[in-house]
Amino acid sequence: MTIQQNKVVAMHYSVSDAKGNELDSSFGNEPLVFIFGSGSLIRGLEQALEGKQAGDRFTVEVAAADAYGDRHEELTQAVPRAMFEGMDVQVGMRFRAAGDDGQEQSVIVLDVTEDEVVVDGNHPLSGIDLTFDVEILLVRDANADELAHGHAHGIDGTDGHHH
Ligand code: ZN
Repeated sequence: MTIQQNKVVAMHYSVSDAKGNELDSSFGNEPLVFIFGSGSLIRGLEQALEGKQAGDRFTVEVAAADAYGDRHEELTQAVPRAMFEGMDVQVGMRFRAAGDDGQEQSVIVLDVTEDEVVVDGNHPLSGIDLTFDVEILLVRDANADELAHGHAHGIDGTDGHHH
């Protein structure tokens, strides 16, 4: 069985940046289990997976634009320190904040001065070309519950309900 729309895929992956620094890996941990085509993966990785089958192991390079997107400098902004009154704001802290379009976005603190806090709404992996090392463990049909919920229920589809 090959990977195509609405198949459940279990796979291990590791992801590295262009310098070969490993950013994340599932090897040695729980595999990633998901319904293919449900939009849960970055586009470039999804394209590389289509047609693969259990046992396949391969490496794919995904340009930033097909991964977490290019960086948008306008998403980096300085806001008045007073907005964080009473908080011990530190570089590296993450917040949920309402963006200009009213959508919640995750921001990370890049810099803190006496008057200002510089926050960045870019995804931490935006602007980074990624290399994935992928091992396909299993490909199966999604069951009716999984299709109704839009997500996989574990490797064999029997994981209890979790919402
Ligand atoms: Zn569910």
